[in-house]
Amino acid sequence: MRLRNITGSREMIGESRFVIQEPKVLRGKWREQFGSGNPIHIEIGMGKGKFLHTLAKQNPDINYIGIEKYSSVLLRAIQKSEEEELPNLLFIRMDAEELLEVFDKGEVDRIYLNFSDPWPKDRHAKRRLPSEQFLNRYDIILKQEGRLEFKTDNRALFDFAVEELAKTCWTAEKITYDLHNDADMREGNVMTEYEEKFSTMGNPICKYVIYRRGKV
Ligand code: SAM
Repeated sequence: MRLRNITGSREMIGESRFVIQEPKVLRGKWREQFGSGNPIHIEIGMGKGKFLHTLAKQNPDINYIGIEKYSSVLLRAIQKSEEEELPNLLFIRMDAEELLEVFDKGEVDRIYLNFSDPWPKDRHAKRRLPSEQFLNRYDIILKQEGRLEFKTDNRALFDFAVEELAKTCWTAEKITYDLHNDADMREGNVMTEYEEKFSTMGNPICKYVIYRRGKV
């Protein structure tokens, strides 16, 4: 998602109290930043932040961090936080390539990927957020028994994501190719902006929940 450039968005983000300006300084200290030992859940490629805002409201005992690389999109998430401030929701503007510089080993309790960019050309496969390269990064920052959840309506991207698991230490705990008609997996589902848009168009939503083999 890349919205039209909004004049001054970088400056507004630079001044926002909801955005961590120097995230690398907080590596290993995210719980101190939130002022509680509560679990930390992150969404990578958060877009306008509706999903995380809803979860943060529902679960005050979990701390949420939204990661987004484009200022114009992040600005929408900040505006939502200004309308309704939540003490357990913060944002970082960065590229997910830098995850290991921002989070320490095992510092994150859950990772969400929602409707990640497909990068359809083969030569860009390693940029896909559910790729082997990213799964190896998540393996470091996610605590041992942590889970990663991925949703998309893009079947080619989902098939790729499932195939990538075999190259890694990750394995699927739950998987569906039609989330909204899966009685078990749809329970408690929080829709993202893209999920609303694409399910309204009739696209089935795929989802997996994965964990590390041997690390229950
Ligand atoms: N998760 C939201 C949803 O489901 O409605 C937004 C989905 S949108 C298709 C994907 C978002 O991921 C875009 O806003 C894009 O800028 C962001 N994104 C893609 N690659 C990223 C990366 N490497 N690091 C941070 N954000 C990324």
